[in-house]
Amino acid sequence: MGKSRWITNGVWGSLTWGFKYRRPLISTHFQRMTSCIDFHTHSIASDGQLSPAQLVRRASEKGVRFLALTDHDTTHGVEEAAITAKQVGVHLIPGIELSVTWNDQNFHMVGLGIDPLHPVLASGIRDQQELRMSRAREIGQRLNKKRIGGAFEGAALLAGDGMITRTHFARYLVDQNRAATIQKAFDQFLKRGKPGYVPTQWTPIETGIKWITAAGGIAVLAHPHRYKISATRLKRLLTDFRNAGGQAIEVVCGNSSNDDVSKFSRHALEFGLLGSVGSDFHSPENPWIELGRLRPFPDEVSPVWGELGIVSNPLSPTH
Ligand code: AMP
Ligand code: MN
Ligand code: MN
Ligand code: MN
Repeated sequence: MGKSRWITNGVWGSLTWGFKYRRPLISTHFQRMTSCIDFHTHSIASDGQLSPAQLVRRASEKGVRFLALTDHDTTHGVEEAAITAKQVGVHLIPGIELSVTWNDQNFHMVGLGIDPLHPVLASGIRDQQELRMSRAREIGQRLNKKRIGGAFEGAALLAGDGMITRTHFARYLVDQNRAATIQKAFDQFLKRGKPGYVPTQWTPIETGIKWITAAGGIAVLAHPHRYKISATRLKRLLTDFRNAGGQAIEVVCGNSSNDDVSKFSRHALEFGLLGSVGSDFHSPENPWIELGRLRPFPDEVSPVWGELGIVSNPLSPTH
C-alpha cells in the first residue's frame, strides 16, 4: 500500500492518467461522498444496455466523477468510455469483471486500474470468451429440449459484438413471452438447478487475480452479499483471496442494505482488505439500480481509490 508505480499504458496513459503517485490523491471530501464514485458498471460490451459512451454521459449527469467500466470478461468498451470520459471530465478507471471459480463455486471479481490491452490479461480472457461461447451453445441446446427454439441464436443476436451472457438469454425468453420478467427468466430457466443452467468451471480465482495483477490492476471481490455461502466458507474464501493477492472487497453495492455494508466493512477490516463501491449498473430500465446511487462509504474502511493513483482533472467543472 502506498507503493508508487507508473501507470503509463500507451493510449491509456494519455486518456486517463499517467503519472507517478505515492499516496491517495482524492480529497477526503470526495472519499466520503460515494455518489461521485462508481467502480462497477456494465455496457453493451457485455450485458449492459448502454454503449460505453452513453454510460459515461449518464454517469456524468448523475454526478459520478470517478467511474470504472467493468464488463464481464472483456475490456472492449474501455477505449470508447475513456474517450468520452475525457470529453465530459469524468475520470475513467479501466476495469473488468471476471467470472472465477473457487472450490466448485462461481464468483465475480472486479479488476480496477488494469491495462486493458495487457497480453497476460488478454490471453486469459480469450479463454473465458471461448468458454462463454461454448456454454451459450449448450444453454441453447438445453432450452431447446424444453421446446424453446432459437435461444442461442436469439441471445447471440442480442449480445451483438459483446460478450454473450445469461442476461441475453433472459432477455430472449422475455421477448419470446416465455418469461414475464428478466428475474423470472433466471428463476425459471437460468439459475442453478433450472433447465437452462450449464455448470461451468471458470478460471480459478488465483489465476484471475494473477491476470489482474499482471495487468497492473487491483483485484476486488464483487458484490459479496449476493453469494449463497456459509459464514465459515466465506471466511475461507476471503483468506484464500487475500493470500492469492486479492486486495479489496465491495463493501457498498447498488442494492446493499445497511446490514450488508456493516457486515462487509467488518470483513474488510478483519481480512486486511480495502473497500470498493459500485452500483453494478446494467440498464436505465432497472429502476432499483442507478449509477452513483450508493450508500455512504464507511469511515472505518480504507478505500480502494487510495491505491488507484487518481488525481483530480483540473479541467473538470467540479475541481
Ligand atoms: P453470466 O456471467 O453469463 O452467468 O451472467 C451473469 C449475469 O446475469 C450477472 O452479471 C447479472 O447481470 C445477471 N444475473 C444473474 N443472476 C440474475 C438474477 N437472478 N436476476 C437478474 N439478473 C441476474
Ligand atoms: Mn451482468
Ligand atoms: Mn457480477
Ligand atoms: Mn457486474
